[in-house]
Amino acid sequence: MNPFENALKQLDTAAAVMNLDRDKHEILKHPDRVLHVSIPVKMDNGSVQVFKGFRSQYNNALGVYKGGIRYHWDVSEDEVKALSFWMAIKCAAVNIPLGGGKGGVIVNPKELSEGELERLSRGYVQKVWRNIGSDKDVPAPDVYTTPQIMGWMRSEYEKLVGYEDPGVITGKPIDQGGSEGRSFSTAQGGVYVTRQLSEKLGKKPEDTTVAIQGFGNAGSYMALILYKLGYKIVAVSDSQGGVFRQAGIDPEKAVALKQSGGLLGCYCVGSVCDLENGELGDCQAISNEDLLELDVDTLVPAALENVITKENANNIRAKAIVELANGPTTPEADKILHEKGVVVVPDVLANAGGVTVSYFEWDQNVKGEHWSEKEVLERLEKIMVGAFDEIWQAKEKYGVDMRTAAFVKALERIAGKMKV
Ligand code: NAD
Repeated sequence: MNPFENALKQLDTAAAVMNLDRDKHEILKHPDRVLHVSIPVKMDNGSVQVFKGFRSQYNNALGVYKGGIRYHWDVSEDEVKALSFWMAIKCAAVNIPLGGGKGGVIVNPKELSEGELERLSRGYVQKVWRNIGSDKDVPAPDVYTTPQIMGWMRSEYEKLVGYEDPGVITGKPIDQGGSEGRSFSTAQGGVYVTRQLSEKLGKKPEDTTVAIQGFGNAGSYMALILYKLGYKIVAVSDSQGGVFRQAGIDPEKAVALKQSGGLLGCYCVGSVCDLENGELGDCQAISNEDLLELDVDTLVPAALENVITKENANNIRAKAIVELANGPTTPEADKILHEKGVVVVPDVLANAGGVTVSYFEWDQNVKGEHWSEKEVLERLEKIMVGAFDEIWQAKEKYGVDMRTAAFVKALERIAGKMKV
């Protein structure tokens, strides 16, 4: 289940449907470049530890390379390559003028002090700064990276180049050039497409049950916003495990629990599964694997890749899947789900709200503007709804699943601008 091999299979499937030019297809099987860096960090105990990092710049036919930086112990070159390819497809699928990039550092950030995390983040920039910039490659947050980390990275970059370039990185804190709405934009985009899908399927929010795997930036805001719209959140989880409650879960309670640092807990401390022991006493503890197989209307994977595979795809009972995580479904599982009639709103569409507001942030930085949250959300809604409708139409026209339709629309745009 190498994510890059999965990405290439998705490319091949779409290329066959649309008769993609052979030379362009060949070029798109490879990233433009991948930087490998070693980052020495002075630890609090005085020793030096060296961390490995990557930055993959996949394709910039439509605009500067764009994509987050992930801090995770399982980061690999192939994962970063796959994520950078999906970024290129995602930007093109929602028709924003950006290319695809992605970075990663092999680290467990939960084991670092704040000072060590800052030195690691600045150290990463010291190794890649010549290859990034608002006119070259613009990073952003991803798993276990935060606005604070983006702020440190911008500051280090500007120190090295000797001038201000707020557009070098997005997902910054608002007082450091960040955009209104960026913090919840990935989820908000996911909510717009979930709403469009509900309309297509003729389901009202109050009749729609939702299970969400992952309770970080993407998953927690998705739960909060869907709940406010009347959707019934019946299960949530994080890395420690999850909870299920048929009567519905108020995600505010899970947020409060996580923010409390686990003081309420006696089982998997500081995690959403502590809800089981709290006010919602009738919750049932479930594993992350159980959550995926619940009998719900909508399943939202919002953690890591490769969680829906050929091993469990047949057990999936959800009617629809909205992929907030990148790469949660393998190509083999996609085939099984399509045959079962499960509608999968693919990552390259469902989670594109994040990069879209990152694009707005970069655009505001470059123009020296600051837009209101209302303006940001109006623009985001227009882009997400437009992309959903276009991809839905392509799905009907080609008789394919939504992922293949999204890739076809994206590849038409990328191939149209590639110089061979
Ligand atoms: P995050 O670090 O804020 O949260 C990650 C969440 O996943 C945490 O709740 C963590 O406990 C949980 N988790 C980790 N390992 C898990 C496991 N094995 N099983 C279940 N849960 C697990 O990260 P995020 O920014 O929310 O990103 C989540 C996914 O969304 C990733 O695939 C990321 O690439 C994708 N995504 C995020 C953004 C964004 O703007 N944040 C944009 C597009 C896509």
